[in-house]
Formats: sequence, C-alpha cells, structure tokens
Amino acid sequence: MPPAKDNFPTALPFLPSKLNIRNLQAAARQCKGCDLWERATQTVFGEGASRARVMLVGEQPGDKEDIAGHPFVGPAGKILDEALAAAGIERGDVYVTNAVKHFSWTPAERGKRRIHKKPRYSEIRACRPWLEAEIAVTRPHVIVCLGATAAQALLGSDFSVMRRRGQFIPSSLAPRVMATVHPSSILRALDEPSRHEQKEAFIRDLAIVAHEMRRVPHAA
Ligand code: SF4
Repeated sequence: MPPAKDNFPTALPFLPSKLNIRNLQAAARQCKGCDLWERATQTVFGEGASRARVMLVGEQPGDKEDIAGHPFVGPAGKILDEALAAAGIERGDVYVTNAVKHFSWTPAERGKRRIHKKPRYSEIRACRPWLEAEIAVTRPHVIVCLGATAAQALLGSDFSVMRRRGQFIPSSLAPRVMATVHPSSILRALDEPSRHEQKEAFIRDLAIVAHEMRRVPHAA
C-alpha cells in the first residue's frame, strides 16, 4: 500500500475491512498514513479490554512507549495507574490509546535524547481513523481525553481542558465524554507540593468517571 503523502494525509487506506481490535492492531503496524512512522520505532496501538467501559485517550506514545510498543508504560503511565487505582477504576475496565499512534520527536540539542514534539494538526487528523475504529469496536461508556491534544482531536480545536476539565461534555462519540489533564503534566510540576495537588485533582476527575460507572454498572 503506497504511503499517503498528498495534501491530505490519512490512515484510512490502511484500515482493515473487518474491524476488531486484533485486526486493527495488526493493520496499524503497516500504517504510513502520515510521515511520523518514518522516525518512530514502531506503531503503538491501543490496548485493553475489547469491550472496555472506559477508554482513555492520550496524545501520542512517548520515548519509552515507542521502544516498548505499548501505550502508557513510561513515567506518565505509572501516574495514570496510581490515579486509576486511587479513583477506584479497575484496569480491566479500561482501554488505553493515543490520538496519534507514532512517537513524534525532535533530537535534543546535546546528547542522544529524543524530545517529545507535539504532533501537528495534520498528523492528528491523519491518525483519527484509527481512533474512530477503536471507539467503534470497544464502544466505551465513557471516553476520557487526557490532555489538550486528545481533547481537541475529539471535542474540537477550541476546546479548553483547563476551563472544562472534569465535566461530561455532550458528544456523539460515547454516552459520556470527559477531558482532564495528561498525567505527564503532573510530572512537570515545579515542586512536590504542586505535584501532589495536581495528582489529587487528576484523581478527583477520574473519581467522577468511577462514580458514573457505578451508576451504570452494566453499560455496554
Ligand atoms: S501517526 Fe497514525 S496516521 Fe501517522 S503513520 Fe502513524 S499510525 Fe499512521
């Protein structure tokens, strides 16, 4: 399948005809829907229960995820796991993924470190068919956008996480859609007290999701 390098890059030609998570994961390994695949180690597709009640959507894989091939396995993933546990959300109820499936990075000025580079709008748009397919297959009751990139990908380019975090936003994507911060923003807090405060706020947002799941225990 030729890479889509026109004015309108898209993953669409790479989607499998039969949609299920296993087919999607396999097909996404070959995706050349935008240029990000060229400098990344591998595709990092979503993972979790195929009928998860909660889908968490981050921005893109980080350095550790790019190497491991799994989402949220680095330091931000550790914060996420701790916050989910504190909020009372079981990992088995969750599917985790990213708006963009390849690591976008730029070299550090010194050394060999790869520095996270925010994906372009065109890359987020190109990758959106994968995310839409994941939503169509898992049919989560709640979608939680982690950070501005995921929120703007799913809720519109003018969506403000800071103003509307922790609220359910009307959306056709799922019965409940919410945005909160990305756990990596907690890692960037200036000191330990503000890190603790930001993590507690993150847990409070996830606790709203946990409450919703208890309210609708058998949601598809
Ligand atoms: S970022 Fe998405 S659209 Fe671009 S090559 Fe990777 S999987 Fe395909």
